[in-house]
Amino acid sequence: MYAEFDLTIPADLPEALTALAAAGTRAVPLSGGTNVLVDIRSQRIAPDRLLDLGRVHQLREITVDRGRVTLGARTTVGDLLASGEVTRYAPALTEAARVFAGQMVRNAATVAGNVACGSPAADLVPPLLVLDAELTLSSVRGSRTLALCDFYTGYKSDQRAPDELITAISWPIPATGSFGSFYKLARRKGDAITVVGVAVSLALGGGCCGGVRIALGSVAPTPLRVSKAEAVLEGQPPTPERIAEAARAAAEECSPIDDVRATGAYRRHMVGVLVARLLTNAIQAGN
Ligand SMILES: Cc1cc2nc3c(=O)[nH]c(=O)nc-3n(C[C@H](O)[C@H](O)[C@H](O)COP(=O)(O)OP(=O)(O)OC[C@H]3O[C@@H](n4cnc5c(N)ncnc54)[C@H](O)[C@@H]3O)c2cc1C
Repeated sequence: MYAEFDLTIPADLPEALTALAAAGTRAVPLSGGTNVLVDIRSQRIAPDRLLDLGRVHQLREITVDRGRVTLGARTTVGDLLASGEVTRYAPALTEAARVFAGQMVRNAATVAGNVACGSPAADLVPPLLVLDAELTLSSVRGSRTLALCDFYTGYKSDQRAPDELITAISWPIPATGSFGSFYKLARRKGDAITVVGVAVSLALGGGCCGGVRIALGSVAPTPLRVSKAEAVLEGQPPTPERIAEAARAAAEECSPIDDVRATGAYRRHMVGVLVARLLTNAIQAGN
């Protein structure tokens, strides 16, 4: 027996924001539904009202303008894979999309849904963190931007007000010569929850590393950037010793737990292994 709920299907963004403001905390936004519907079926949530964004077509555009790439909130994982701009300006995000679920889920699952679900294992978040992504949060009160790295306040909690929707996710076009990648450690390549996710991005200039970003998934209450590990390499020549030190720092900065998929100790060990591997690959690609 499913919970009963009301359904609102707004025709455009102003209508969606008005409906959300009127419903307040009783409404749950519905994008692809690949989390929400599973959560309703398993009775983890019982919303009074679903706000189905399926007809808000203007939220599904990918644009490159004035030095930034912008994804509408309803951009799906399939859209990411089909986008030349995303492949060019966010290779780590493309890599995450390639190992995301199976084809049917990729066709429905959206970027905003992945960000907003707040799962520590949300695969698109580490690549977006290394891109310095920002979220646009909109409501009838107006719009504000927020750095993705400031969005989460704890496990499945964030800075979104009940009357706000994520309407866009954007990032600056990476500097020439920068290289980004993502690796998902899981039991299978697709349709498996991530045991450890690692994204890195850096650029080499004059023999030194710049713009070093390292982000992790599934090893803390939220996806996170590991700034102490980044600082080990920033502005420094990428020697094997420094790479090893950055990998050690990343392993120390995370706080993985034991669960049915892996022990915390294994996760921490693999953070070190994978950070070292992805940094080495990035540096080789930049040479
Ligand atoms: C079989 C299966 C495999 C999966 N595999 C993966 C995987 O490999 N990697 C992975 O990371 N995830 C995976 N997931 C989880 C899920 O598919 C993703 O998190 C997906 O990106 C959620 O997007 P959605 O559009 O379906 O979100 P929804 O289910 O529609 O919404 C998710 C949450 O976001 C909120 N929300 C949605 N849109 C907005 C918005 N615009 N503004 C504010 N809040 C919003 C909703 O209210 C809800 O709280 C899988 C799920 C299934 C069922």
